[in-house]
Amino acid sequence: MLTRRVLLGAGVAVSFLLPDRAALSAPRSTAHRPVARAPKPLVMLDPGHGGKDPGAIGVSGTYEKHIALATAQELRRMLALAGRYRVELTRTRDIFIPLQERVAIAQRKGASLFVSMHADALSDHSVRGASVYTLSDTASDSQTAALAQRENAADRFGGPQFRNTSPEVARILASLVRQETRIGSARMAHGVVGALRGDVPLLANPARHAGFVVLKAADIPSVLVEMGFMSNKADEAALRRPAHRMKVAAAMKQAVDAYFRHA
Ligand SMILES: [Zn+2]
Repeated sequence: MLTRRVLLGAGVAVSFLLPDRAALSAPRSTAHRPVARAPKPLVMLDPGHGGKDPGAIGVSGTYEKHIALATAQELRRMLALAGRYRVELTRTRDIFIPLQERVAIAQRKGASLFVSMHADALSDHSVRGASVYTLSDTASDSQTAALAQRENAADRFGGPQFRNTSPEVARILASLVRQETRIGSARMAHGVVGALRGDVPLLANPARHAGFVVLKAADIPSVLVEMGFMSNKADEAALRRPAHRMKVAAAMKQAVDAYFRHA
């Protein structure tokens, strides 16, 4: 359980007892039922682009959408082998999925972690290296507002005792969830950078922030990994090689493992 003390202004403070996420998702056991195992956490991998949207096109013609899908499938294979997670992809084929739908898929399925995978392009073709993005603090927070308004929002983080709470309390709880999500996203980003370092070239200041639409789930820790740049000859050539993609996927798996070890 996590205790959160919230200042409501004018010297008034409220303390909430928030069950942690694992406790929320664990099935309730009773004396009449055998204790059920908590479901494995769902890792949602999101290969960028697809279908009519090729993403960046490399200097020698490689499509980002194919690199993203191939690496995501490799990472799924590695994570599935570990047996500790359920793993799904927002797309398993070369199809177009709007950005907001990718977030919606993860939320509908109750994902515990969202990892978007890209290899975009820069106008400066000399820049190479991987980088990891989390949502910037200044990005729109409409998801938190939506979370506060959803009828079952209180159940999701406060438990049944928070059902029928006032809109004010719902807003406070939603912003607490958002805060926990931000902390989780930052921890995951830090883990990915640490795992990639040494194995894969990195951009300077590889942990970055941006307002990417796919990072806007208020309730799911989310990162976007730029595995390299299609606009750079060396990055493109590396990402075309299965051995290099395996190296990237292995580092990302290491980060997922570390994330859930400390969750
Ligand atoms: Zn991309």
